[in-house]
Amino acid sequence: MESDARRGLPPVSAVLEHELLVESLPVRGRLAVRRAVRTALAELRRGLKEGKAVPTDPASVARRSRELLDQERAALRPVINATGVLLHTGLGRAPLAREAVAAVAQVASGYCNLELDLDAGARGRRTAGIAQVLRELTGAAAATVVNNNAGATVLALRALAAGREVVVSRGQLVEIGGSFRLPEIFEVSGARLREVGTTNKTRLSDYQRALGPETAAILRVHRSNFRIVGFTEDPALPELVQLAHAHGLWAIDDIGSGALRPGCPPRVGDEPTVAEGLAAGADLVLFSGDKLLGGPQCGILVGSREAIGRIEADPLMRALRVDKMTLAALEATLRLAADGEPAAGRIPLWSMIATELPVLAARAEQLAATLRAELGLNATIVPGESFVGGGSAPIHALPTAVVAVAAPFPTPHDSEAAWAKALRRGEPAVVPRVQGGLVLFDLRTVAPDQEPYLLDAIRRVCHHQDAPRSSDPVRTSSSVPGDSRSDEPRTNSPDRSGIP
Ligand SMILES: *Cc1c(COP(=O)(O)O)cnc(C)c1O
Repeated sequence: MESDARRGLPPVSAVLEHELLVESLPVRGRLAVRRAVRTALAELRRGLKEGKAVPTDPASVARRSRELLDQERAALRPVINATGVLLHTGLGRAPLAREAVAAVAQVASGYCNLELDLDAGARGRRTAGIAQVLRELTGAAAATVVNNNAGATVLALRALAAGREVVVSRGQLVEIGGSFRLPEIFEVSGARLREVGTTNKTRLSDYQRALGPETAAILRVHRSNFRIVGFTEDPALPELVQLAHAHGLWAIDDIGSGALRPGCPPRVGDEPTVAEGLAAGADLVLFSGDKLLGGPQCGILVGSREAIGRIEADPLMRALRVDKMTLAALEATLRLAADGEPAAGRIPLWSMIATELPVLAARAEQLAATLRAELGLNATIVPGESFVGGGSAPIHALPTAVVAVAAPFPTPHDSEAAWAKALRRGEPAVVPRVQGGLVLFDLRTVAPDQEPYLLDAIRRVCHHQDAPRSSDPVRTSSSVPGDSRSDEPRTNSPDRSGIP
């Protein structure tokens, strides 16, 4: 066999010294980088054997090795969220508390008593443990958990009202995240939607008139991602519950995000709380485990024994059940949330919401100063707004200080989009906002211990990124990547951005 040297192929060690791979070494490890170089060299040998004119200089081999390395990266990988959208559905919503991560790791790496009653030595319900925690925390008589709040809604409608009517105000027929559309949720559930009132005004008498032998329930849905202002009217929840119960009907309250009690963290705007729903006497209160509660994605149902019993007996419960990792993360998060204020610093979502502007401004100023001094970037601080996102607290913007950077590439147009793209494709991937010809970094959604990695990622893009190829498609339409699919507020309108 002909030696690599005689074919003109560089040795592995020479390719490894190329800067493209040197920068990958600390991130990917020597083994993975070497493997990629060997694969690239093997490809070249095959090409040469077939008589192809393939470039064999170390730089070309390094480039191909880097491509191979990039291709084998995990499909799901960590991202630094510099968008300032806290519950970014495209970026996985809430980061979990350390305690929740530890709980997940513990049950994930071994066996656990998921469906085993350890005292009795008999089969138990997988939701029995979490139900107890939820009962203690909320005071509800019964509770259960499914894989998300959309699932909880379908399940509740089906178990309590399949084949019958559920009365909903026309002002509450929400669409959340593009795929949760209340009329469609009804179709899937088998319950019939009975709309009452108008978009802006629905009175108790509207509900009253709609009740009949076909009615099974009254459903209130929180306007999670929009508000109706001006001349509006809605009956208070206690009135609706009273009406339902006077007619022997279920009262269901879909609050969406899981703020537990009024006045407790995370304090954002006028979000309804679990405690208020239960205090009003609702048979069921539905909410998300990640939205505002700051736990894993799941749907939580709390309420009366009768309602929860019907739900747990429904065959759909099996299809929507949660796994051990979700239960572990949720339990740990709930135990933190039970502490209220003292836990505010330990649930990442809560601490991001609570971070004060001067703190963010100081962090932003420090990052901007480094970018200017070390990389010669044109980095300034501009006032901006962070958003809770995830379809919650739509009008509650949190004032923030944003690091605004003019793209360093000398490309004629869309250079900021090309720069943002390079950041997204880096490792770790960084997702900034792009607005008004600038790349914006909102540190509210960047944990302080991520800042060195953010800085490193920016450094790498500045030092090593090949000038972007003009054929590369770059996003220019949306300022917050991924927001078209979900309810992250569009932050590119000048009136919301606070950017001059
Ligand atoms: C977000 C939301 C849902 C859906 O919850 P997921 O956990 O995203 O499935 C349902 N109802 C309301 C009112 C919501 O805000």
